[in-house]
Amino acid sequence: MTDPVGAADRLHDAVSGAIDDVLAAATAPPGPIFVGWAAAGDAAACPAAYRAQGEDGWGFPGWSPALAAGAIARAALDLHLDDQRGGADRLPDPLEAVRGWMRAATSVGARGVAGWVGELRAERDTATLAAAAAAASRWLAGFVRVLGWPLPPGLALLNVTRDDAQGVAPRWWPRKGSPVSVGSGADARIGRVRGAGGHRLVVHRPAAGDDREVHGRATFEAAAGALVHRVAPVAVVVTAGDTSERARVEVDGDMLTAGGGMIVEVVRQRAVAVERGYDPADATPSARCRWCDLRDACPPGRDWLAGAGRWRGGLPVVEIG
Ligand code: SF4
Repeated sequence: MTDPVGAADRLHDAVSGAIDDVLAAATAPPGPIFVGWAAAGDAAACPAAYRAQGEDGWGFPGWSPALAAGAIARAALDLHLDDQRGGADRLPDPLEAVRGWMRAATSVGARGVAGWVGELRAERDTATLAAAAAAASRWLAGFVRVLGWPLPPGLALLNVTRDDAQGVAPRWWPRKGSPVSVGSGADARIGRVRGAGGHRLVVHRPAAGDDREVHGRATFEAAAGALVHRVAPVAVVVTAGDTSERARVEVDGDMLTAGGGMIVEVVRQRAVAVERGYDPADATPSARCRWCDLRDACPPGRDWLAGAGRWRGGLPVVEIG
């Protein structure tokens, strides 16, 4: 990537223009659209299933221990790093670090995951608190195991909720007043964001997924990160806590274009959804059919689940003969 600022600018122009075209051609305003990795992954995997989710599925599903794990773990690690700034690099005890942050999160009205933890504490919901602490400490332990300790020089946590609720999630809008916003879901950045480029984005997952998911996630985060920071990253590092995997995906122009396309596709599908939700014409079977709510009523999904394809979901296709 020789011109990371120019690449981000070109992506900005291309994605903004494509979104303008989609919104101008929509038969009715699709309403506010937030594009994060979950929406981009869903729309890319099966447009029919994505549209069928409707308002309930497109919105934030609400916090749960699994969903809150990363947010709590980043906040706990951020607090741990803050506590020892200028001192020794003391390896965090994952569960103690998480519990310490959760004990301090007492503000019910705080923004983000801190408010949810504050509510659980006010309601004395110890079972959910324990489940959230366990999931978050697993996330934190995996993050530190894969990235090493001390953490790589120049690492900065992203998407951090601070107990003063000032943590800001990185977002990009195509233009002022646009109903579309894009969120970068990277967990950390290595290296400063400078005009010369060179920084990497880190996406951590507690458990490994298949290679398509790794590449899809890296593609989306490369584009979202370039739009949010106005400088393209040099690479996206996707890690997995359970296997200690660390996949570095180099970012180039084609990847940014593909990531921008994923963003625009979410907006396009939301515009189409104003007219129709599920449509078998663009139902796209994959391993996701196994847990899709429509699997009993969707002919392509039913056929796929009844055929040999289901046995290959997530596995390489073996050539016979
Ligand atoms: S069953 Fe499969 S193909 Fe059908 S809508 Fe769901 S994910 Fe798409």
